[in-house]
Order: sequence, then structure tokens, then C-alpha cells
Amino acid sequence: MDAVCYHAPRQLEIVTVPIPHINEDQVLIKVTRCGICGTDQHLAEGEFIGKFPLIPGHEIVGVISQIGAAVHGFSVGDRCVADNTILCEACFYCRRGQHVLCENFESLGVTMAGGFAGYVAIQSKKVYKITNLTDEEATLVEPASCAIHGLDKLNPAVGVEALIFGAGPTGIILAQLLKLNGAAKVVIAANKGIKTQIARQLEAGDEYIELDRDDPAPQWIKMKEDYKHGFDVVIEATGSEKVANDALGFVRRGGSLMVYGVYSNSDLVHWSPAKIFQDEIKIIGSFAQTHCFPRAVAYLDSGKIKVTDVFSIKDFDKALEKMKSKSACKVALKP
Ligand SMILES: [Zn+2]
Ligand SMILES: [Zn+2]
Repeated sequence: MDAVCYHAPRQLEIVTVPIPHINEDQVLIKVTRCGICGTDQHLAEGEFIGKFPLIPGHEIVGVISQIGAAVHGFSVGDRCVADNTILCEACFYCRRGQHVLCENFESLGVTMAGGFAGYVAIQSKKVYKITNLTDEEATLVEPASCAIHGLDKLNPAVGVEALIFGAGPTGIILAQLLKLNGAAKVVIAANKGIKTQIARQLEAGDEYIELDRDDPAPQWIKMKEDYKHGFDVVIEATGSEKVANDALGFVRRGGSLMVYGVYSNSDLVHWSPAKIFQDEIKIIGSFAQTHCFPRAVAYLDSGKIKVTDVFSIKDFDKALEKMKSKSACKVALKP
């Protein structure tokens, strides 16, 4: 099978490798689509937790093509998505039930061979069937699972007012999740472009602020005036160091700031501890997910959370270009 391989940071090649063999508790998935996300760009640069050489791709959608002897409940041809996380179940955190903090956290497409390939072997307990979603739409189940984990951690009270920075697939899903889980108002602030248009089309938020890419400063000032008391919940979902710095300024007294982007390892924030102390602000980190796939499939496959505009492409280089050009909300590779 053909696969995308990062031999080392910034060394990408299409390679031919054998189709993986499956163990008795695994299934073989023939990949039909695999989403590309910001994490893949960070991995390509040698950042985040990647291990090389690596076949990336962690937003895996496909059909079951082979079933291990001990697997029940699946048939060849079933359409499915795969939870890419692998947990050791034995470390300090796993034994405390804090699986997302696993000290030996492995992830298909991040630390082990993933879905930018013809086939993926995976334990059947990590595989979930889909019915209504198209293959393109289903690439958003993994990001939605991460967003659900984020919302679990945020645990917003009924009727909160929320501000989300970023209108990528994650921001759009987080906005809808907040609305479905009791937020009275969701404001999405993001750079002007196709993503904010899509957020509007999907009615992901209640209000939208389209920031000027070159000179957003006056708009930031206006936002401070328009939302004088800030927000109960502010989510930084752009991965921008600058926005992470500024986001704290929009948190209401007693509110929470969730840091939700993938940042460069060298990024730093400069926050006022006095504000955090006096305003009793909670800072929340949210990373990846475990065990959130069933809820993500339920929300997306039922259409309660809407996703759209996934752009499929066969050539990985062109897909990366398409993503960098910011002319699509979500780009997926079609092996
Ligand atoms: Zn991702
Ligand atoms: Zn563990």
C-alpha cells in the first residue's frame, strides 16, 4: 500500500509499505478518508509528541476489510471511524482513571502508523460504526471527540455566555456543543474568511466577529466596549500565541479560560496573576480525548452537530497547500 511517511521533521515521502497484519483482537480498516489538522502541520515541523519515522493521520474513516478471530460485532464492509488513542492501562494516571494523562499515551498518526495510508490495523474496541455521515463529514468525529472532552473539563453552568476564538472545525464544533449544553450566548471571533462564513451558514454561534487579518487592533478595542463584562467562558482555539495572551482579557470575573489550541513549543503567555487572583479566573487546559467517540458519533451522525465543507484530495502535498491557503474549512486525504 502507499503511505505518507515523515522520515524526520520536514522530510516527507510517499512510500510503499506492506498492508499491516492484524492480531486476533484487531480489525483492518481500508481508509476511505483521513482528515488533516493543525496537529499534522506541527508534527511535520518536529513539534508536539511525534515519533519518527511516522505515517501521520489521526482522523481515520474507512470500511472494515478484515476481522480478527476474537472480534465480535463487526462485518466486512461496515463503515467506521477509529479512535486513534492507545492507553497503557498500567501507569500512575491510567490506574487513577485519568486516561488522557497516560504517561505512555500513544496515538495512531502521532506516535504510531496512522491513516495517511491505504490500511490501518486497530483494536476493534476502538472502532465505531457510522451510518448517516459521509466519509468527508466523518473526518470530524475525532475533532468532535476532543471538543467533547474539552466541554467535560469546562463543565459550563446553565446559561453561560461564551466567546470562542477561532472558527476552524474545532471552533465550529465547540460552539455548537456549548449551545446544545446550555449556553445562553455563543460569540465566535475569528479571522475573516471561509471559516467564519461556514460558521454562519451552520448557525454555529449566535454572534460573529470577523477580525481583519492585517489590523485587528481596533476591533479588539470595540469588543472590549461591546462586551463590557466579558464572558463566563472564553475558549482560545486558534493556537496563536498572541490570541492566547489577549484571551484572558475577555474573561468575566469568576469565569474560565480554556486553552485549546496546538501551540509551538516555544510559545509563552504573559498573564496578570493579579487578575487571575482577584477575578477568581479558572484556567483550563484540554488535550486530546479518551472515550469520547461514542458521544461524538451520536452528535454528528444524528445531525445535531452539523459539519460541512470537507475538501477531499488525493495528493498529500496539494492537500497541505490547500490547508495552508486557508481556502477550505477542513481538508481530508483520500488514499
Ligand atoms: Zn486532529
Ligand atoms: Zn497509562
